[in-house]
Order: sequence, then C-alpha cells, then structure tokens
Amino acid sequence: MKTRRDLRPARFALFVFVGLIIFCVAQLSWWIIYQIDLSKQLSKHQAELLDQKIEIVSLTANRCFQQRVNMISYAINMAENRERYLDSLLSDSIITGYSIGANPEEWKHSGLIDSTFYANIGSGITVFFDSQFPGRLLEDSKGEIQYKPYGHISGKNLVWVVSDMFEIRPEVKEELERSTHGRIMMFASEGSFFVLITLFGAFLIYRTLQRSEELTFRQQNFIHAVTHEFRTPLTSLRLYLQTLQSGKLNDEKKQDLYGKMLDDCYRLEGMVDNVLEAGRSGRQDYRLNLEKTNLTDDLAEYLDNLKPVVDGLGGKIERHLAPDIIVKADYQALERALRAIVENALKYSKPESRNITVTLSRQGLSACVSIADKGPGIPAHEQKNIFDRFYRIGDESTRSVKGTGLGLYLVKQTVEAHGGTVEVKSEGAARGSVFTIRLPLVQ
Ligand code: ADP
Repeated sequence: MKTRRDLRPARFALFVFVGLIIFCVAQLSWWIIYQIDLSKQLSKHQAELLDQKIEIVSLTANRCFQQRVNMISYAINMAENRERYLDSLLSDSIITGYSIGANPEEWKHSGLIDSTFYANIGSGITVFFDSQFPGRLLEDSKGEIQYKPYGHISGKNLVWVVSDMFEIRPEVKEELERSTHGRIMMFASEGSFFVLITLFGAFLIYRTLQRSEELTFRQQNFIHAVTHEFRTPLTSLRLYLQTLQSGKLNDEKKQDLYGKMLDDCYRLEGMVDNVLEAGRSGRQDYRLNLEKTNLTDDLAEYLDNLKPVVDGLGGKIERHLAPDIIVKADYQALERALRAIVENALKYSKPESRNITVTLSRQGLSACVSIADKGPGIPAHEQKNIFDRFYRIGDESTRSVKGTGLGLYLVKQTVEAHGGTVEVKSEGAARGSVFTIRLPLVQ
C-alpha cells in the first residue's frame, strides 16, 4: 500500500506554490497601500504647491512695493523738482498716484486712485500702489487662486500683501479631493479585484494540483490493489492445478478443486470486467442498452440467487419488494451495480452483523431501491468521496478489506446513465449504511 509519504515531492511543490501565492498577494497588497499613500501625498503636494504660490506672490508683490518705496525715498531728496519727479512715477505700472499733504486736491493719479496699498515716503508724501498688481502675478495659476485685498494697508514693516488675501478656490479644493478620492478608489477596487482574481486562480490551481495529487495517490493504490487482487486467485489456481497434476486425488476432491478454480476464474473475470467497465463508463460515448423491465421480478430473482452466498457467509438478507415496478434499464449493468453495493455490505460488515435489507418502493415518479447494512458506517465527510474513481476510505479497518475503489464509481456511472441517482446515508460509525438508487419509473 502506497502511503502519502511517497507523494512528498508533489507536496513540496504544492507548498512552494502556496508560498509564491502568499508572496504575490502580499506584494499586490503592498502595492495597493503604496499607491493609495502616493495618491494622498500627491494631492497634499498639489495643495502645498498652491500655498507656496501664494507665498511667492505675496513676497514678490511686497518686494516690488518695497523697491519702489526705497527708490522713491532716495530719489525724492535728490530731485530738483519734486513734483515733476513724482509725476514721472505715474508711468510706473504699479504706482497709481501720490499725495502731498492731507489735501485731496493735491493728489495726483494716473486714473482712479485705489488706496488699498500705500506708503508714506516722508515729507508728507504718500504713494499709492495698484491693488490689482498681486492679482496680476497670479495670471499663470489658471484661476486656481482667488485674490481679495482688504482694508487700507500702509506697508508698515514693508508688508502690504499677506497670504490671507489669497484663497484656493473651493471648486479647486473639491476637484483635488475628488481626484484623490477617485485615484484611491481606483487603486483600492482594481487592486482588490486583482487580489481576488489571483486568489481565485490560485485556488483553482491549488485544487487541481491537490486533486491530481489525490488521483495519483489513488491510482498508485489502485495498481497496488489490483496487482494483489489478481495475484491471489492466480496463485491459488496454480496451486490447484499443481495438486491436480500430481494425480493423487479421488474424483470427489477433484470436483471440489474444479469448483474452487471456477470461483477463482469468476473472481478474475469480475475484476477484469470492472476495470474494463471503468474505462468504458468514463468515455463520452458511454451508452446503455435500455429496455423496459420488471424491476420487482429481476430483483427477486437476483436475491434468490444471492441467498446461498449470504447464507454461506453466515449473514441474513431481508427483502421488501413493492409489486410490478417497471423501469427502463440495462439489467446486466444494473445488476452489476446492485451486486457491487451488496458485496460491499457483506465484505465491510463483521460476520456477526451481516444483515442486509433490500427494499424496493415507488416514490413519486421514481423507483427506489435501498440496500441497508449494519456494517461500520461511512463518515459524513466521506459520503461524497466514495463514489469517486479509485477512492477508498483511508481508515485502516476498512483498508484491510480487499478492494480497488472502482465498485461505487461504477455504480454511480451506471445509475446516472439510467437517468437515476445514487446516494448513501449513514448514521455514523458502527451504525450501518443505506445506499439508495432512484430510477425513473415507466408509467
Ligand atoms: P472498494 O473496492 O474499496 O470496495 P468501492 O468503490 O466499492 O471500492 O467502495 C469505496 C469505499 O467506500 C470502500 O473502500 C469503503 O471504504 C467504503 N464503503 C463502501 N461500501 C461500504 C459499506 N457498505 N460500509 C462501509 N464502508 C463502505
């Protein structure tokens, strides 16, 4: 019997695969977190950039005003004609006017005096600066920043323009938040989608690998079991023939040996049939020769023939057959399926509990054959597996019984080819099993 140790390389490959998938998913998750963080940083930088622009514009405007103040303060003392000099200042694009003394009559201006920004130069002279100048410095900011000067600012400490006079437009802020949110959502959803796809793909590959590992394991066990099953009858046939060849046997003994040899031949034939049938039933073009038949009569005849075998094994077989149940069946194939279930019931039950009950009933539109035994039972988690090819329950108590794991697989294939179903129910360990076959009734 092969053990799971023989599959160590495949297991190792499986572990490596799982490790790689964990690594990929971790990388992908890290990438998502990194991209989300990057998006947040990007929008933060964009907001910071606008703030920096405001700072630069304030600084530039203040510096320009300051240069004018310094220049005028210096030049006014040197000027021969102060008024002419002051008039010449009006051609400066950022100076809108000036005043000498408090009398507005004496104010001069290039247009309308906008007295938001002004500077006292000394000697009663005040110079007015264009309040829109800082706004003009923002021309390349695509309207992202709003500029609103307020009050009258004298430029004390050489500061006229402060960052409070600028505001990032609310719609720009909203757009920034919206695009950041959009990017985060995109990375989160696309990333999660890729993680899910990777996990799903990995799950499919893992399941396929696991199944193929399981199948390899079962096939190895099958080969082992079949070799063993073939060898036993062949060895006994050889021994019987050698005994017969010796010629020392009387007729009665010879007849006995012929019977045993025939049994061995039937056993071998049955096994070859099973293997051939398993090959055939797996094919797409597997068809049965269905004919209308009286299942009640067929089953009664089969159980009559079976009774001596069960008696010989010290068992009991009980029957409850509803009359005249007609189905369309390939009875040879169906009988093989029934035989596989009954043989299992006999071989897996202990001699003292070889009690089998066969019931045939009508349930709605189905004929229902159930075969109940009082054997070891089948654990709930194994009940689906036992119909798989080469599957044998890995419990040593049942493994000690000979078998190939093909019997119930063939039962399922045969019953399904009849358009029916087969299921097993078991109350648990040592509480027996009930196999139920349902076939469509012929009305
Ligand atoms: P096998 O040749 O091993 O009997 P089967 O396909 O007929 O193959 O059965 C699959 C497995 O189901 C068996 O190995 C056995 O473990 C379990 N099994 C089948 N019938 C019974 C039963 N009546 N009671 C307990 N276990 C059963």
